Amino acid sequence: MMPPQTVQFRELITSHLAGIEHALTTANANAGTVMLDQSSVGRLSRMDAMQQQAMASSQRTALQRRQTQLLAARKRLESGSYGICCQCGSDIAIPRLQADPEVPFCADCQTERE
Ligand SMILES: [Zn+2]
Repeated sequence: MMPPQTVQFRELITSHLAGIEHALTTANANAGTVMLDQSSVGRLSRMDAMQQQAMASSQRTALQRRQTQLLAARKRLESGSYGICCQCGSDIAIPRLQADPEVPFCADCQTERE
């Protein structure tokens, strides 16, 4: 029997994924702009351009990591293991999942890992 929150979390995860896809598209577009700026003459110093590129790239990495976590959460939702801590197997608090639907660990295990 699926918990009643399943539908709610599926919608939450889907909407987060859509937001990330949008942000990644924007980040990719920005990275393209930085590269153009770098090849254009003088407007940005090389250091500035490299800094901007590094920022765009770390932003993209963070987005991609979150996307991976969300996709994994959606798989757990489908396999019926969603909301169960991947480390200790206890239930993850619902408010915690509502705030951050991709969390794979309960608060205790998360604290232990940090
Ligand atoms: Zn745990």
